[in-house]
Formats: sequence, C-alpha cells, structure tokens
Amino acid sequence: MKIGYFLDFHLNLLEEIKFAKENFDFIEITFDYGIKVNNEEIEKASKLLEDFLVIGHFNWNLEPEKDYKEIENSIKIFKKFKAKYMVIHPKNYLSSEENISFLNSLKNKTILIENMSETYGKSEAIKQLLEKTKLNLCLDIGHAGKTNELENFLKLKDKIKHIHLHYNIDKKDHLFFTDESKLKEILFKIKELNATVSLEMFKDTEKILNPEERKRLLLIEKNKIRKLLQRL
Ligand SMILES: [Zn+2]
Repeated sequence: MKIGYFLDFHLNLLEEIKFAKENFDFIEITFDYGIKVNNEEIEKASKLLEDFLVIGHFNWNLEPEKDYKEIENSIKIFKKFKAKYMVIHPKNYLSSEENISFLNSLKNKTILIENMSETYGKSEAIKQLLEKTKLNLCLDIGHAGKTNELENFLKLKDKIKHIHLHYNIDKKDHLFFTDESKLKEILFKIKELNATVSLEMFKDTEKILNPEERKRLLLIEKNKIRKLLQRL
C-alpha cells in the first residue's frame, strides 16, 4: 500500500516535496485559495518531482463559476506535475445535476470525487455523481466516519482509487488515530483496495498542530501503519 504525504500549503512547496520524497511514497498537492506560487516555483517543483507519484487536490473553497480560471490553472499545474489523479469536493450548495454538469465540463477523467460530511457524505448522493460523470472516488475515511457511511462506500470498491486517511471523534476530524484498534480495523477494510492512501491528519483533539509537530507525528503514524499492515 502506497502511503503519501498531504502537504501543508502554508509551507514552501519545494521543501514540502523534498520532505515527501525522503519519507513517503508519494505527495498529495493542494494550493491555497488563489494559488500563491509563481511560475518559477512551479518549474522547479516539476523538476524536483521527476517521476515521484503526485496526486492533485483542488482547493476546497473554489467555486465552479466564480473561480473557473483558477480551476483551469490548477488542472494545468497538476498536469505539469504529471498527477495521477486530481481530487475535487462536490459542492454542497449545488444540486446533483449542477455538480454533474460542472464535473463533466472539466472533461478530465483523472478527477476523483471525494465524499464529504454533509449532503455529499451520503453514499447514494455520491453514487449518482459517479454514475453520471463516469469518474472515480476518493474515499475520505474521516468524512465517512462522520456520516456513518463507511460500509456503504466500501461497497463501491472498484471505484475507489485513492483514500484520505484520518480519524474522527464525532464531528471532529482530520485527527491522528489515538485509538490503535480503530486504525487496525480500518486498515483491514482498505488493505485489499487498489488505492493510494494519503495521511490527511492535521490536528490533535484540541487544535491544529504546528508544522514540525505534525510532521513528527505523521512519521510515527506512517511507521505504525506499515507495522500493522504486515500483521494483518
Ligand atoms: Zn479529504
């Protein structure tokens, strides 16, 4: 199972890529709203990435009509990085039909639709988007935990190409797994899927962690996952 680093866009892109290459199997790249990296950095990043596996992730605040230019620009950058997939959030304020027509307008089969924690946290709603767009799924484990839909999403196994792994306690998500038996249970469920796994943890139960602490904990989490996988 390939385990990836979900970068922190507040930090330097090139340094983040170096950290991922040293410690993980791939990197998931997202940009701040209103991409703040310049062309020179993009060039340097794409050289540094070489053949390192990349998953792109559109900024979650992008709005289909208002931000169409930025969405197109993100696609251009992800293509330059030779991203295998690009993850997108369906928009809660749009109807199913509106989401479908937006997704189809992007004309890109590498886009993965992510399950959210509200309307599009329901597997039936996501299934409809997947069917009408012929796109695949990024299964977000923490979101599925919040909506109690993990088992239903796992039934879509052939559609799951990528996973966001993080823990949730009720409505709090993007946590590290404080409960190892829970982590084990989830790994057991996803280990046979043909999907890459990004560690999308950013917080402890109280607050967003500072970057150094987050990195330290991610390395511990990655090693814990590797060990557990060997025993499953
Ligand atoms: Zn996610």
